[in-house]
Amino acid sequence: MTRNTTSRRNFFAQTAAGAGLLVSQTVAGRSNAAPFQRTNVPAPQPVPSPNKKMQLRFYPYDLTMRHVFSVVGSSRTTTQGVQVEIEYDGKIGYGEASMPPYLGESAASVLEFLKRVNLEQFKSPFELEDILAYIDDITEHNTAAKASVDIALHDLVGKLIGVPWHRIWGLDAAKVPHTMFTIGIDTPEIMRQKTTEATGFHVIKVKLGHDNDREMIQAVRSVCDKPICADANQGWKDKSVALDLIFWLKEQGVVLVEQPMSKKNHDDIAWITERSPLPIFADESLQRLTDIPKLKGVFSGINIKLMKCTGMREAWKMVTLARTLNMKVMVGCMTETSCAISAAAQLSPAVDWADLDGNLLIANDIFRGVQIVDGRQTLNDLPGIGVVPIEKRS
Ligand code: MG
Repeated sequence: MTRNTTSRRNFFAQTAAGAGLLVSQTVAGRSNAAPFQRTNVPAPQPVPSPNKKMQLRFYPYDLTMRHVFSVVGSSRTTTQGVQVEIEYDGKIGYGEASMPPYLGESAASVLEFLKRVNLEQFKSPFELEDILAYIDDITEHNTAAKASVDIALHDLVGKLIGVPWHRIWGLDAAKVPHTMFTIGIDTPEIMRQKTTEATGFHVIKVKLGHDNDREMIQAVRSVCDKPICADANQGWKDKSVALDLIFWLKEQGVVLVEQPMSKKNHDDIAWITERSPLPIFADESLQRLTDIPKLKGVFSGINIKLMKCTGMREAWKMVTLARTLNMKVMVGCMTETSCAISAAAQLSPAVDWADLDGNLLIANDIFRGVQIVDGRQTLNDLPGIGVVPIEKRS
């Protein structure tokens, strides 16, 4: 657009100069001024060499949970996190790594990774493909650490060109799906209370995988009639028992099931998916782009999370590939500040289901970004990932 605008400007400048030349020639006939003197044409100016460098900064920032958060096998009140900033040409891009314990990373491992990152070797943040290939090659794993750099770079690039990423991707912000609001495993009384408090949300997510799954669903269903998404977190052990439960869940108004059995047991999951009346989504079975073809036929859909897949660039490729394979797509999250949630929300108009409540589960958010409006993580028009820090770290 800039180039076209510039071209048009040059054209008008030259046209005006041409008109000026005619006047000049007419006058020249009477004044003996030198003909064809192009004094009104501005000389082309060389583009100044910016000689700018990207500066990477990072610091640990633990997230405090509003409630004790329980899934199969663990409960916690905090989540380790690392905040990242990349500065270039007067703009700052923000990124984040969030490390729930099962992800295999910690604040220490992320900080160690980030110390190895040298962005100064690149000319500008617009070299996203090359920079992120370099980041990916630093280690084999560390997907959250890689995501923190990816998110900050995307934020930075969006800010430098003044456009939010959902627009760069050509997505309609009005198509953001309702986000799920997760009710963690708890006593039936507490689950009823949490469900009742979840006013303003149109889809409830319930963590299953214990022996009392029916009780959990009944507790939620006793106080609301909203669609329920059931996440077993690999907790079911027998495929026939799981399938019976899924048929019962459908009668209770459950609309999808996530990760019914172990990621090591794809044969049984494929057996369930083939017979299930509800779509079955991969979460723990899925990390990155290259996993998706292996999941075709095993699951009906995939749950993409930035912390698992190294960030926004790969996430977008995953959406595209899953659609090509005729699979459903959900975008999910960890417990994260509004930074990573707003980054994930940028691609949410392209997915079937959004599970982006991670920033609502923490008490110490340091960003303002997407906002819940009518149960949706609603995108704003701010460039990049659409976030503003609300508390500067001293
Ligand atoms: Mg899950």
